[in-house]
Amino acid sequence: MATVNSVLGPIDTKDLGFTLMHEHILVGFAGVSQVYPELLGDDPLGRAVNKLKQAKEGGVDTIVDATTTDLGRDINFIAEASRISGVNIIAVSGWWTDIPRFFQGFMPGMGVSAEQLTDVFVREIEEGISGTGIKAGILKAASDYGGVTPQAEPILRAVGRAHLKTGVPIMLHSYSPGHVGWQQLDILRQEGVNPKRVKLDHSNDTTDIEYLTQLMEQGCYLGLDRYPGRVVSSRARTNTMKALIDAGYADRLCPSHDSSALPFLSPDWRRAEEERRQYNPHGFLYIKNTVFAQLREMGVSEEVISGLCVNGPSNFFEGV
Ligand SMILES: [Zn+2]
Repeated sequence: MATVNSVLGPIDTKDLGFTLMHEHILVGFAGVSQVYPELLGDDPLGRAVNKLKQAKEGGVDTIVDATTTDLGRDINFIAEASRISGVNIIAVSGWWTDIPRFFQGFMPGMGVSAEQLTDVFVREIEEGISGTGIKAGILKAASDYGGVTPQAEPILRAVGRAHLKTGVPIMLHSYSPGHVGWQQLDILRQEGVNPKRVKLDHSNDTTDIEYLTQLMEQGCYLGLDRYPGRVVSSRARTNTMKALIDAGYADRLCPSHDSSALPFLSPDWRRAEEERRQYNPHGFLYIKNTVFAQLREMGVSEEVISGLCVNGPSNFFEGV
């Protein structure tokens, strides 16, 4: 029996059910909800819970909250949201800070080694986050259009080492239009990580099926997220999913939205929520309501559709 750490304790991978593998509850910057809660608008917990309850009623059982500490992870907030809504939530350890457009010039001064980072990531998985005893169930690192920069490399290596010590799998923010997944996998391989313990997210930001199938031949999982999608349309993302299903990889795909229960920080949170509703009225149910209907139209069988968001996530956590 394989288990995964949820914020309310370990759960059997067979009980994960319908799982969205890359979402957020609240996103901002480190400490925002504890230090400046008013920036989140009125009753953030209640609003987040409402979104999660809608998801639960629509059949979502589990959500991976991909919010690292530097993106504003608030482990007590997440645990409370899970407890009240009934949605299992899996918290992440790791760091996102590579994204060059935000952190150029900042990271080089941080001077943290891969060894130091490995220790803190392992502690968050084995002992708990911020002294709460709430354990992370997945590791995360990030590289974007700049590739794996010298600043990001220690984070990626530390994530690989923490995985080897704990067995907890790895999700990577990746830049698929630049084929950055190859570089990330190479570095993790140097650390001794088996690609089948790795999920490359935002993979549907490219429509290059050859790149994606070559990655899957190495054994890794693909996060097909960022729905409904801006740069690449929702329909194009679904065409990519269909092509990968046809190539025989349905059980290694992890469709998700990369959405957030609360909107990003904004001068007017009510307007931000309204804009978000217009962009995606389905919230965490967009894939179930819209993408699955598109797949049905394209001739994908009910059997395959009912396994999407179930088999990929459980296989990934089991390390199949
Ligand atoms: Zn995300």
